[in-house]
Amino acid sequence: MPDSLHVSAHPLVAHKLSILRDKRTEPKQFRELVRELTWLLGYEAMADLALRPERIETPLEPMKAQRLEPRVGLIPILRAGLGMVDAMLELLPTAEVWHIGLYRDERTLKPVEYYNKLPDAATVQVCLILDPMLATGGSSAATVDILKQWGAARVKQLSLIAAPEGVRTLNTAHPDVDIHVGALDSHLNERGYIVPGLGDAGDRQFGTFAGPASEPGHGPDDVTAEVVRRLQRDLRDG
Ligand code: URA
Repeated sequence: MPDSLHVSAHPLVAHKLSILRDKRTEPKQFRELVRELTWLLGYEAMADLALRPERIETPLEPMKAQRLEPRVGLIPILRAGLGMVDAMLELLPTAEVWHIGLYRDERTLKPVEYYNKLPDAATVQVCLILDPMLATGGSSAATVDILKQWGAARVKQLSLIAAPEGVRTLNTAHPDVDIHVGALDSHLNERGYIVPGLGDAGDRQFGTFAGPASEPGHGPDDVTAEVVRRLQRDLRDG
């Protein structure tokens, strides 16, 4: 796996991820864990942000203090990434939150933009893409394309769990993007779910278990199976 992949070695992350993965964990606790894990992983992902000196006065005397230099933008991948936004805003209250909506065209297999209200020029220097599951990597790679075109100087990806196929896709398209994750799992199944993973991160956060499409292995999307086969071939063949 590439140097740009950072898998947290923190025991709290491993502990909380195990509870998150457990199929008995209900949506309320699941949401709380997504928030706590985002906090821990976000803290690690922000460890190399630049600082600028600032003179302040404490009640005792003046001192040379430090402030974060770059402006940071949060870009949640809809919909599961929404559950990571609040935790990141607790860490970075001045961060801007920008929404970009993408879906995959069933014929071309290419991500298509359906929502993008980014202003003409970039308003932030560092962008953090939030997606609990880095699965095929297609949405992330396309989102990075958009953010770089916008003028973002630096892009990072924050995910709770990644599949090797997704890491490879994102890293091949954008080797400069740091990928911060809580765990690197075994593989994608034929429907694009991460194995062992945790199932559908959106359904488990928002309690939407109504249809068979929400069940791992029963998704409606034959096209995904094709994408997964291609990604697995690429990974195998180097
Ligand atoms: N999205 C999910 O919610 N879960 C997966 O396993 C893969 C993509």
